[in-house]
Amino acid sequence: MIDDMRIRFLGGSDKVGSLAMLLETDGQKMLFDYGITPSKPPGIPLPAPPVDFVFLSHAHLDHSGMIPALCDNGTVPIFSTDLTSAISHLLHKDTLKIAETDGYASPYTNTEIKKVNTFFEPVTPKETRNIGSMCEIQFHDAGHIPGSLMIEIAGAKRLLFTGDFNTMDTHLVKGTKPVACDILIMEGTYAGRDHPKKREELEKEFIDKLHEIVGRGGKAILPAFAVSRSQEIALILSKAGFNIWFDGMGIKVSKLFLKHPHYLKDVGSLKKVMNNINLVHSDHGRKLALESEVILTSSGMMDGGPVLNYMNKLKNDQKSAVLLTGYQVEGTNSRLLVEQKKLNFYGVIEDVACEVQYFDFSGHAGHSDLISFAKGCHPEKIVIMHSENREILAESMTDFSEVLMPHNDQQISL
Ligand SMILES: [Zn+2]
Repeated sequence: MIDDMRIRFLGGSDKVGSLAMLLETDGQKMLFDYGITPSKPPGIPLPAPPVDFVFLSHAHLDHSGMIPALCDNGTVPIFSTDLTSAISHLLHKDTLKIAETDGYASPYTNTEIKKVNTFFEPVTPKETRNIGSMCEIQFHDAGHIPGSLMIEIAGAKRLLFTGDFNTMDTHLVKGTKPVACDILIMEGTYAGRDHPKKREELEKEFIDKLHEIVGRGGKAILPAFAVSRSQEIALILSKAGFNIWFDGMGIKVSKLFLKHPHYLKDVGSLKKVMNNINLVHSDHGRKLALESEVILTSSGMMDGGPVLNYMNKLKNDQKSAVLLTGYQVEGTNSRLLVEQKKLNFYGVIEDVACEVQYFDFSGHAGHSDLISFAKGCHPEKIVIMHSENREILAESMTDFSEVLMPHNDQQISL
């Protein structure tokens, strides 16, 4: 039985990026997520010691990006959904390609990417497993992106590791619900910030803005994360009637989503959208996209991918606009654009004349939702992680639970 639990963050305790958490209990070591920050140069967590098991909450790079480096420690089972492992594999190959193009030291090799892909053991939401000599592990849908999981360890004490989660329904996935636990280890990406509007109002405002841009003869560039946000935006735009082109890694991810339809709220609507949208497969396609109305493209944080090519062509056009749809991590190009109206084009920082606006189509619980979720779990202790603003969240939680905010490399007993 579990009576002693110790955790230590290897990264990502106090920022949104390169998350990794070690849990030691009952003589066994487990690693929860092993991410990378896709900045330039990439941010990596502390080296992971050999562990008995790995749990991967979801495919986003800040949770999965360093998984191939685990090969250094021999074979280890990695529990995640089959969709998470398939998307992670795609992202690992892309991370290696970007490191090579940018001239940064590769965090792992192609051989390791292939090897780690054989370590995955697929699990599904709502599934319960007995792993090793340990108590029960239960997996829950995290409502963040298709295939995302929260992991519950049920012994003398119940511990829940949320990864990233969302309590609100989106077009792609249904929101999650609180899980009763004693120790809640939760993300706080949106600590201090509530989502400003109801989703329907935000969607209407977004579509109205696009009509305004197209109406004045401009084009709209929509940088979006390849995993989940691109597909969500495509679904939002499905009935608006624009001429839309879709470019970048999001196309491959959409195909993987369609191959794993049980993780989607409504596979039929995504299928329909993908059949009706124009896909860019060549330079000729990129030219056609530039003559269209709306370009949906990766990368979401604008540090690479086709978006920079499109922005390079349109940066001086005041009639055009770039509408950001995701969280802008500190140190990324999209943060530079929002804060200074400048972009780093392949090493040269230039002004951007077109309109810049941010629409908060988040896949994360907002501040108030984080608090309601935590309250609903009835924990004795809450560990806040993966947040640039933990104190403000902690202030609102101390009246119903003890709240801990460990730093990276600090070991705490729970
Ligand atoms: Zn995520």
